[in-house]
Amino acid sequence: MEKADTPLQEVRTNIAKACKASRREPGDITLIAVSKTHSTQAIMPLLEEGQRVFGENRVQEAQDKWPSLRERYPDVELHLIGQLQSNKADDAVALFDCIHSLDRPSLLKALAKAMDKADRRVPCFIQVNIGSEVQKGGCPIDQLPALLASARDANLPIAGLMCIPPADIEPAPFFALLANLAKDNGLEGLSMGMSGDYETAVMLGATHIRVGTALFGGRS
Ligand SMILES: *Cc1c(COP(=O)(O)O)cnc(C)c1O
Repeated sequence: MEKADTPLQEVRTNIAKACKASRREPGDITLIAVSKTHSTQAIMPLLEEGQRVFGENRVQEAQDKWPSLRERYPDVELHLIGQLQSNKADDAVALFDCIHSLDRPSLLKALAKAMDKADRRVPCFIQVNIGSEVQKGGCPIDQLPALLASARDANLPIAGLMCIPPADIEPAPFFALLANLAKDNGLEGLSMGMSGDYETAVMLGATHIRVGTALFGGRS
C-alpha cells in the first residue's frame, strides 16, 4: 500500500497546482505554518519534515515555545501574525523575523524605536482592514498612504500588505483589492490566504500564505 501524504505534502501539492494554474513559481510563495495554540511536540514533526517558516499570534506564547525549538533548528524563521500591543514591541523585535500586523501610527513608532534600540531591522507587513469592518484590526484603506510614508520616514522596512478578509463571504475580491493596493504603492509582498482559501490567494498573487488548520488540524 502506498503511504498517504502528510498534511505538509498535501498543502505543498495544492500550492504547486495553484501556481501552475496561474503561471507562478512555487519558490515565490512562502508557506507560513501557523503553530499558534499547538505544543512543541506538535510542531516537531513539521520541523523534521523540513518546514522552517512558522507563524505565531502571541508574543508570550512564542517566547515560551520557540527558544528551545530554535536551539535544535537555528534556521527557523518566525513570523508574528497576530495583533501587537505597543508595549510588546521590544520583545517582538527580539524574537520575530517578520511582523504582519503593523496597522497604526502608534505601533509604527514603538516598532521603529525598538528596532533602533536593538539595531535590528525586522521587515513588517502593513495589515489592511480590507473589508472596512468596524470591529476588525488593520489600517483603514484611506490611511494606508500616510502610514507608508511614516514607515519610510522612520526607516522601517515594509515587506508588503497583509489582510484577513471578512468571514463567510467569497474572499477573492478582497485578495484582488489588496493586490491592487500593493501595486499602487509599489510593494511586492502580499500576505494573504489561510487554510480555507490559500489556493485562491496564490492565484491572486499571494507571496506569503498563513496556514494553520490544514497542517496541524483544529485548534481547541
Ligand atoms: C490563525 C490564523 C491563521 C491560520 O488560520 P487557519 O484557518 O487555521 O489556517 C492565519 N492568519 C492569522 C492572522 C491567524 O490568526
